Parts: sequence; structure tokens; C-alpha cells
Amino acid sequence: MKYDFSNSPMNIKMVDLQSQYLRIKSEIDAAIQEVLMSTAFIQGPQVKAFAEALSKYNQGINVIPCANGTDALQIAMMALDLKAGDEVILPVHTYVATAEVMALLGLTSVFIDVNEKTFNIDVDQIQGKITKKTKAIVPVHLYGQCADMEPIVKIAKENNLFVIEDSAQALGAEYIYSDGTKKMAGTIGTIGTTSFFPSKNLGCYGDGGAIFTPDRALAEKIRMIANHGQKVKYQHDIIGVNSRLDTLQAAILLVKLKYLDEYTRKRNEVAVYYDKHLGNLNYIELPYRASHSTHGFHQYTLRTKGIDRDHFKKYLESKGVPAMIYYPIPLHLQKAYRLDGFGEGSFPITEKLSKTVLSLPIHTEMTEDELSYICEVIKDYHA
Ligand SMILES: *Cc1c(COP(=O)(O)O)cnc(C)c1O
Repeated sequence: MKYDFSNSPMNIKMVDLQSQYLRIKSEIDAAIQEVLMSTAFIQGPQVKAFAEALSKYNQGINVIPCANGTDALQIAMMALDLKAGDEVILPVHTYVATAEVMALLGLTSVFIDVNEKTFNIDVDQIQGKITKKTKAIVPVHLYGQCADMEPIVKIAKENNLFVIEDSAQALGAEYIYSDGTKKMAGTIGTIGTTSFFPSKNLGCYGDGGAIFTPDRALAEKIRMIANHGQKVKYQHDIIGVNSRLDTLQAAILLVKLKYLDEYTRKRNEVAVYYDKHLGNLNYIELPYRASHSTHGFHQYTLRTKGIDRDHFKKYLESKGVPAMIYYPIPLHLQKAYRLDGFGEGSFPITEKLSKTVLSLPIHTEMTEDELSYICEVIKDYHA
């Protein structure tokens, strides 16, 4: 079948939250109505119920809901008493939030380049960056695939470091140990964090986030920090922040959590379709599947080879196929995060990725017609 590429017959979206909502509309609407009628907008019973449901989903880990995934990272670092001057290791190919909260707390970001295939922190480079001031490693499970946690945890243990997993993009993915056992993303380190930003794999209808920890005492401290440092109202034992998950968002998430595995399955089906139909094109490299992780496919991110990525992106868009670049400017080249002594060439893999990565549409509502059209358009590209 030959398509008319001059104008896309479909309204293809990077994510389609409207169609996703319409499929579960009656449940969502009822959940929202219940909160509206109860008027328990802050710390209503749905917040606790959601935390419990997510804990059950995540193998019983302690779950502390909060206002967003950025706060989750900040609260995690506050709870571990990280202080100005402490060094924290993180991948340089990540979303700004990870480095942003470190800057706010006066911590020193120690960037590390990523593995070109997995897009995640290059484990082999961690040991060399550890100093007397290093306090924590923050792996980011980028695009939905876990960083290689087993060696990271080993290095952390040997050097007495905390591990904070930024699982904003990987909720529902599983890390696979070398002996075959599995653990949910975000439940492996000292603390795990996630985001319920609408387009994340489990998204609410506004901002939301959560913090995970296996340590009960630490969970209690995190809970206090997220709520003005108080356990008892108006009694402030430690310095905290105001970072609560709204009851409305919790009620929505309580409905959507039931569908998370189905959503993950659907994303994986889309990925398998792309893999199957785009496998033998010499101008793109498809996402690599690490043996140490299942994939949440928050993004389906390919790398262009020998062609101008931005020209390719414009071509796709001209055919009605949206595509996104995560992330176009590496953190160490951002005006606000440029560290002394770092410039162009400091992190070659990340810099290369910033010029070659491209994420294709992937969401829970994609149709075979859309996928077929997207693949035909990609195959028809002439550089
Ligand atoms: C989305 C995201 C965050 C921040 O989450 P918000 O809820 O938007 O604050 C942090 N880290 C990564 C890797 C993300 O993708």
C-alpha cells in the first residue's frame, strides 16, 4: 500500500491523553466528583489510599506522595542530610530537574557521561569520580529503561554512598539482577523518586510525584519534610517544604494505577512494531534493549546515523509525524549549569546524543494505522 504523504490522514500525537481519558471517563469522573463533594482537597483519604496501592504495586516499599517529581528529588536529598559542598554524582544526559535541585541545595553536581547504547549513566566512570566529599549517586532510568543498578549499588556500598534513583520515566519497569531476580524501578536504592506529570507513564491531570524508600525511619522523615517538617500540626521538628499530592490527583491516580501494567504493555507493543518495521534502515539506530531491565518505553528514542537529525525531524513533521528531542542541550553546556572547566568536548557521548537522538510518538492509544503510516514515512526518507 502506498500512502499519500502530502498530508497526513491522521492527527498523530506524541501522547494522546484525551483518548486515554475517554476510555476510563466514567471511573475518573466519579472519582473526581467524590473528592469535590467531600471537599477534602488536601490530605483527603484518597492520598493515603493511593500511597498504599502504589506501595503494593511496588513490592511493599514505603511510598510518600508529594507535589511533583522535582520536589521528590529535593526532599530525598534533604532527608539524607546532604549539605552544601557535598558532591553528588549524576548522568549529564538527563532532564534538568536532577541537577536543579542539587544547585538549590548548594550540592556540587558531578556529571558523568552516559553509555551510548543504554543512554544511562556509564557505570565504569563512577569510581574515578568519587572523592572524600562524595555523598550520593543519582542514576536516572532514562526513557523508561533502568540504569545498571547492581554495579551501582555495589560501588555505593563500597564507598559508603547513598543511591537516589530518579525513576520519573520508569515507573513500572523492572531491574533484572544477574541472578535473574527482579526489582521494580525506584525500589532498589536508598531512595527512589518518581513523577506523575501528565505525560509520564503513570500521569495525573496536573503535577504529582512520589518518593520510595525501604527504610521506615527514613520514610517517616521524608513524610515530615514534605509537610513543613511536622508530624503533629504546628509542631515543626525539622525544616521542610510544602509538597503534597492533591487529593484530586490522588483520586485520578488511584483509578489509573489499575491500568499501569496495561499501559506499559501497550507501549511495549508500539516499540515492538517500530523495531520490526524499522530494523534494517541504515540511517537510524533503534533503541537498545539492555538485558538488565524491562522497558517502560516512556520514550521510543532512536539515534540517527550519517544524516542530519534536524532535517530528518523537519521531514517527519512535514508529513504529520511529530518527533521530539530529549534533550537538545546537554546540562554541562546550559548557561545555568555550566561547571568550571567544562565545555564542548567534555562529555562526548552525551554531546553526540544531543545531536542524534529523536523520540517517535509512543503512547497507550496508538493505532496500527498510525504506526504503519509513521513507519512508511520514515522508510521513505531520502537524505
Ligand atoms: C519528569 C522528570 C522529572 C521531574 O518531574 P516533575 O514532576 O515534572 O517535576 C525529573 N527527572 C526526570 C528524569 C524526569 O523525566
